[in-house]
Formats: sequence, structure tokens, C-alpha cells
Amino acid sequence: MKVLVTGGAGYIGSVAVERLIASGESVVVFDNLSQGHREAIHSDAELVRGDLAAAADIEAAFARHKPDAVMHFASNLLVGESMEKPFKYLGDNVSNGVNLLKCATAHGVERFILSSTANLFDEPETIPISESECIVPGSPYGESKYILERMLAWLERTHGLRYAALRYFNAAGATSERGEDHDPELHLIPLVLQVAQRKREHISIFGDDYDTPDGTCVRDYIHVSDLADAHILALHALSDGSRTYNLGNGQGFSVKEVIETSREITGHGIASKTTPRRPGDPAKLVADSSKIRAELGWEPKYPDLRQIIEMAWSWHSKHPNGYGS
Ligand code: UDP
Repeated sequence: MKVLVTGGAGYIGSVAVERLIASGESVVVFDNLSQGHREAIHSDAELVRGDLAAAADIEAAFARHKPDAVMHFASNLLVGESMEKPFKYLGDNVSNGVNLLKCATAHGVERFILSSTANLFDEPETIPISESECIVPGSPYGESKYILERMLAWLERTHGLRYAALRYFNAAGATSERGEDHDPELHLIPLVLQVAQRKREHISIFGDDYDTPDGTCVRDYIHVSDLADAHILALHALSDGSRTYNLGNGQGFSVKEVIETSREITGHGIASKTTPRRPGDPAKLVADSSKIRAELGWEPKYPDLRQIIEMAWSWHSKHPNGYGS
């Protein structure tokens, strides 16, 4: 199968490309390299440098490469930023998705996989969170993903497009060749590891007055390679129809637990300071992924937080300046 991967130079996208190529698929990466890294793209994948905001760029990529399937990772993805700049999300994320979907349907693409998010569940009634939980997006970011999910549901009816919406909880970890390198970095685990590398003086703990055992937010960290494998299973399962899955390990860890585990793994004292809450952050997000386990036989290979942080630390130690080194 030929798969067009938007955002294939980014963190999760580049690992999905790595896993797609390992499983024998042919891959075209569509990326504007504004956030992604050329060095992250697998050497067997072809890069089309283009922008989802430019319909002509996407049209040219589809006309030339004729993909059978699309995996859509490229997106603005910061919960906090989306509270300050809602139109970057409710506008750009949505209109870029529309441009892509218009092209995919016009070219008869039958399989589409969307990177969606746990930020659909701001006020979960039941934890761990299953697919039947009520959708209450926690931010314009989450809302932009939900709008795309709804669009896919309609395009299935109008065009027969088969889709998988994969709602990631907290992607983390690294493979031996690919890891997390954002600029600016705003995610917890890479920031904590930057403190261990002495690139940053301390880690800020965004609020310690949540209704959780130690007062800090609880998240379900899932290894990026396990996420990528779920995409490949979903891609093949689309032969049997569209589907939506929540993806996590089903175990929650607090911000303080992540910091403590990182201290143990790196052997460095990691200074921390408590600061006010970050707007848009729910107290606790833990996934119930029993649906994808039962339906697709998905089984995380690295479910242990310690192993996830060890693999991230190993990549950051080898690439102290990220892909720039
Ligand atoms: N967090 C924090 N300090 C930071 C960055 C993140 O305390 O410098 C917390 C954040 O409030 C959340 C958790 O760490 O509870 C994970 O945040 P991240 O941005 O990595 O992922 P998100 O949950 O937003 O997808």
C-alpha cells in the first residue's frame, strides 16, 4: 500500500513512517518542515515539502503519488497555546484538514487515519476513559480534532471513506533513531530530561492542588512506537470498516511521579518548582484501551513508564541538541 503521511517529519509521524516501512509499506511524507525535522524522515520515504494550507501543494502530491491511504499527523498541537490563540486551532487545524480531505476524497482514497486526542475528555465521568465516554473537548485544540472526527463520520456516509480516529493519551519515549524534539519544547518528559542534561535549571510543576493523590496532574504515558503500531493495525483493519479507539496503557502517573522516575533513571537531581495551573489541563486522563486490544489484538510492547523514560533518556543522551546535533 502507498501511504501519504502528513507531518511525517514530526515526533509521532516520523515513528509511524519508520514502522510503516518496517512493515513493507511505501511511504510519501508530506510536511512543510516548520516543526518537523528532515533528519527524522526515514531514508526510504519520499519527502514532498508542502503546506496543508496550500490546496495546490496537496493536489500536486496526490496527483503525482496516488496514495491508497492517508495518515494525518500534521497539526498545531498545544493545549495551552490553543486557549490563547483559538483560531490557530479552530481555524488552521480545521481548514488544513478540510484541504486534505477534499483532495483525499477527490482522488478516491479509501483509508484515512486521524491523529486525535485525549483532550476530547475534559470532564470524564468514568476513569479509565473508554470510547463511550461523553465528548467534552478541553480546549480549542481538542475541539479542532473533534470537528475533524465528525467530518470523517460524514465523509464515510457521503464518499465511503473508511477512517480510524486514534485518540492518543500522552505520547512519550523514543526509538533508537527517533525521539521528541520540539521548538519550543513544552512537553513534560523532554523538559524534565533537559533539566537532567543541565540545559534548564528546573522543571515547573503546573499546579499541585488538583484532586489527585499527590495534587499534580495524572496522565497515561504511551510509548510512541506502540502508538505507531496501532496505526498500522488500524490501517489494515479498515478493510472491515471505520473505527475509533482510545490509546493509552491504562495506568496513570502524576507529574511528581514522572519527575521522581526520571531522577532515578538519569541519576541526576532534577529541581522542580510549583507554579500555577496551566489553563486547559484536566486533573486526570487515563485511557481504557480494551476496545483496540480486543478488536485488533493491539498489545503495547513498552507499557512501563520506567522503560518509556529510559528510551527517551537514551535518545536525548545520544542527541543532546535534538536533531540539530
Ligand atoms: N506539565 C508540567 N510542567 C511542564 C509541562 C507539563 O507540570 O513544564 C504537566 C501538564 O500540566 C500535564 C502533564 O505535565 O499535566 C503532561 O503535559 P504535556 O504538555 O507533556 O502533555 P499534555 O497532557 O498537555 O498532552
